[in-house]
Amino acid sequence: MIQEHVLGTYGRAPITVAKGEGSYLFDTEGRRYVDFCAGIATCSLGHCHAKVVEALSRQAGQLMHCSNLYNIPQQEELAALICDKMIGLPGKIFFCNSGAEANDGIIKVARRFGHRHPQADGSPRYEVITFNKSFHGRTLGSMAATGQTKIQVEFDPLLVGFKYVDFNDLEALKAAVSDITCGIMLEAVQGEGGVNPANPEFLRGVAALCKQKDLLLMIDEVQCGFGRTGATMGWKAVCPEVEPDLVSCAKGIGGGFPMGCFWVSNRAIDAAGTQLSSIMGPGSHGSTFGGTPIACATSLAVVTEIVEQGLTERAAKLGEYIKTTVEGWNLPCVETVRGLGLLRGIGLRKGAFTVPDGATPAAYVNTLCMQAGLLACPAGPDTLRLIPALNVPQEVLEEGLGILKTVLEKL
Ligand SMILES: *Cc1c(COP(=O)(O)O)cnc(C)c1O
Repeated sequence: MIQEHVLGTYGRAPITVAKGEGSYLFDTEGRRYVDFCAGIATCSLGHCHAKVVEALSRQAGQLMHCSNLYNIPQQEELAALICDKMIGLPGKIFFCNSGAEANDGIIKVARRFGHRHPQADGSPRYEVITFNKSFHGRTLGSMAATGQTKIQVEFDPLLVGFKYVDFNDLEALKAAVSDITCGIMLEAVQGEGGVNPANPEFLRGVAALCKQKDLLLMIDEVQCGFGRTGATMGWKAVCPEVEPDLVSCAKGIGGGFPMGCFWVSNRAIDAAGTQLSSIMGPGSHGSTFGGTPIACATSLAVVTEIVEQGLTERAAKLGEYIKTTVEGWNLPCVETVRGLGLLRGIGLRKGAFTVPDGATPAAYVNTLCMQAGLLACPAGPDTLRLIPALNVPQEVLEEGLGILKTVLEKL
């Protein structure tokens, strides 16, 4: 029993996963599942991709870890690839291990910026405005940044310096900005919160507001980044001309290997030309495991494959295919198909079917899918999230959608 010695923080499904192969998972009973969960939008290339296995094994036999006391060439190579091919703007990368850590990192940069660009009386600015239904992680910093009280219950007092406003409400955001604000943080598509994309006008407005008020634009690309939304980064799928100051990444960057990073823009923050990235000098931040040779070598294989195989463009096409297919079923239980690229949410219509006591509609439908051989993932109470690997074969995509259709028709 896993509960005996593993802390019970997760509501786990009653299956035990034995192995993976591309977009299939197999449980210990030998049952096969179509995997539209992909380790929660993390296994970008599916399971056990030959090039990833090869890069990981090769690096394991050469050097796993040596610490950031020394130069790590794999970091150099990966950082250049991420800056050039994924972010596409001049800046620098800090490597960490997870999404929450990456967000804590960009919150630290924003606070330091608030010291360098203080209030009129010289006291630092420190407040970061985030959005209701956002999700930024479970550490003390990223939990405080998250605009969902359910994850904060009984962990108060929370880290100070956060304020939440409704997503896509530019007027509410403008009203919330004050003398102590130093940054605005958002997901291009809110993932955990229900697959809610930012409106292009909203994102453009946020960027303009940041310029006007000397605030940092902080984008959490942990779930949206690395091709997931059909653009290299989620903000580009919404509004490509926007230029963020800080970007946090994790999930899909490692293809299932623990890896995270944040990017800091090189843009000048004053008339003297001080680069934003320069405010984080030696000693300002660190991580023992951040950017190990093995994590970087693995991630390098993943990101290279995403770039070389055009998986970003493919995610855009397959995402449209999912949307038109599911909409074409014209089922009463489907209210909307939201999202971008291969980050799709099926909004379930309230009252269209009966849900057992204690379950949410999304959790209920997710369980039915699992029983029928399809792994998906709830996003909030009413949305079923489909987040398959970016290289999911067309026939496996169709197989999974076929299972979903059968389940939804029977509701
Ligand atoms: C999953 C997620 C996080 C947290 O990442 P962890 O690796 O679990 O710490 C942060 N932000 C977003 C948008 C996420 O989807």
